[in-house]
Amino acid sequence: MTIAVDLDGTLANIYSVVLAEVSAEIGETLTPNLMTYYDWLPDAFGEGMFQRFSEFWTRYSAECVEPIERDVEVLTRRIRSRYGGLDIVTQHTELERKNITEWLQHWNVQYDNLVLCGLQDKSKLPYICYIDDNPFLAEKLRNSAKVLYLYDQPWNRLTPGKWNIRRVHCLREVLD
Ligand SMILES: [Mg+2]
Repeated sequence: MTIAVDLDGTLANIYSVVLAEVSAEIGETLTPNLMTYYDWLPDAFGEGMFQRFSEFWTRYSAECVEPIERDVEVLTRRIRSRYGGLDIVTQHTELERKNITEWLQHWNVQYDNLVLCGLQDKSKLPYICYIDDNPFLAEKLRNSAKVLYLYDQPWNRLTPGKWNIRRVHCLREVLD
């Protein structure tokens, strides 16, 4: 069984890069704790933020975007071994494949396939287990037989748990 692991906000600390850039533009310090719901950035700074997210991956080199967890290599190796496979599944598109692949290689993330699903519904993909920070995915999976390890972030704190929606504060908890 291959587990689907998200990129932005789950493995990659892209939001800090985004917030640093936006902070410099507006002359005000923004921190991730302000992002108390998932669409906070586009609500605050316009729909163009969605486009900027994609562009960030092509504008920054791999070392500029840090992994959320320093030991991402060891943890992804263990999770991959536990589940028998680990795919990186992200809503980015083919335009970002090269940069994302470089990032995964730079930080030694252990994975099988990079799945760029774009606007496809992740919940409909053939995985039965996910690690993701997206509260909307939690709602889509809530009444399914699939399991989501909801990676704790300020924008998903209001999402209630369930037997199949399990909040984790670090990747190690997926292995507990
Ligand atoms: Mg995410």
